[in-house]
Amino acid sequence: MTENIKENVNMQGADILSMTESELERFVVEELGEPRFRAAQLYGWMQKGAPVSEMKNLPASFKKKLCEKALYRLPKIAERLVSKLDGTIKYLMEMVDGECVESVFMQYEHGNTVCVSCQAGCRMGCRFCASTLNGRNRDLEPSEILGQIAVISRDTGLRVGGIVMMGIGEPLDNYDNTIKFLKLVSAEKGLNIGLRHISVSTCGLVPKIRKLAEEGLPVTLSVSLHAAEDERRSSLMPINNKYGIDELLSACRYYFETTGRRVSFEYTLIAGQNDSFEDADKLASVIKKGMSCPCHVNLIMLNEVSETKFVSVQKERADAFCKRLCSKGVNATVRRRLGSDINASCGQLRLKSSKEKR
Ligand code: SAH
Repeated sequence: MTENIKENVNMQGADILSMTESELERFVVEELGEPRFRAAQLYGWMQKGAPVSEMKNLPASFKKKLCEKALYRLPKIAERLVSKLDGTIKYLMEMVDGECVESVFMQYEHGNTVCVSCQAGCRMGCRFCASTLNGRNRDLEPSEILGQIAVISRDTGLRVGGIVMMGIGEPLDNYDNTIKFLKLVSAEKGLNIGLRHISVSTCGLVPKIRKLAEEGLPVTLSVSLHAAEDERRSSLMPINNKYGIDELLSACRYYFETTGRRVSFEYTLIAGQNDSFEDADKLASVIKKGMSCPCHVNLIMLNEVSETKFVSVQKERADAFCKRLCSKGVNATVRRRLGSDINASCGQLRLKSSKEKR
C-alpha cells in the first residue's frame, strides 16, 4: 500500500493536513463523496503523523480516492541526531518535494518542546546565521510546519507541550501560513498545544508584529535584538535598515498592550561585537526606556558557523553580561545549551544535505 501511494503522489492535490477539521469534513463529503465520519477518522490519524498505509479503519477504496485527490504533506525523517548529553534530538525533515528543513526535540523539566522551521532557507540575511546563507527556496505550508511536530511526537512516543518557532526561516515573512499553523496546532481535537506555550520568534518585521498583536492569539513574541544601537544592529541584521530599534520597541510595546503577553528578547553574544559591559549598559538603558513594560532577555551564546567570521563568547562572559543586565534592573537569563554535542547550529544540517545533493 505504501508503495502504491508513493506512485500516486499528486502534487496538485488538496493539502489535507493544512485543513481544519471542518474544512476536511467538507473536502471528504463534497470532493470525495464519502461520509462525514471518515473525515474524523482521517483527521485523527493525521494528527498522529501516521502514513496512509497505517490508517487501519479506512477502507482501501477511500484511500485510493484520497491519494488521487489529496496531497498529504507529512515530512519524512531524513536524518536524526541524538544528543548523548541530554537526549535532545535534531531532525533533518524532508518535504514531499525534497526540500529539507531542521526540527529539534528538547526535554525540559516543564515538558517537551519542539523547535520548528517555517521556510526552506531564509531571506533576512542576518550575518551570523547559517539558515540564510543560500537565501530562501520557498515558504512551508501550514501542514509542513504542523507535520514536523506530528512526526516527532510519533517518533519519540512523547507528548509535545510547547513549540518555539526558532528553526529555519522567519515566521512573520510567511505570515498567513504561520497564523494558520498556530490555529491548527492549538485546535482542541488537533495536537491541542496551548498558544501560551508557543513562542514566535522574529528578526523584527514591525508591521507584522503589529498585525500579530491583533490576531487574538496569546502566543509569546520573541524578538531577536542582538544589539542596542542601530548602527551595530544594522551591521548584524540588514532588516534593521528598514525598521530601526525605536520603531521595533514601540511595536513590542504595542504587542504587550494589546495582548497582555510579556515580550522576550533574544540577544546572541558575539565576541567583540556586542558583549562588553558597555553593550550591556546600553542594552539595559534602551530596554528600560523603550519598553516600560514587563519583558525578558534571553542571552544566547553564538553557535559558530564556519562560513562566517563570528566567534562565540565564553560561558563566564555570558554570565557576567547577564549579571550586569540584572544589576540594572533588566530581567535576563543565559539560555541553557541543549544538545551541544549535536549542535551543528541551526541551518547547518540543511546546508550539508543540500551540498551533498549537488
Ligand atoms: N527568524 C527568526 C527565527 C530565527 S532563529 C528570528 O530571527 O528570530 C532563532 C534565534 O536564533 C534568533 O534569535 C536568531 O537570531 C538566532 N541565531 C541565528 N543564528 C545563530 C547562531 N549561529 N548562534 C546563535 N543564535 C543564532
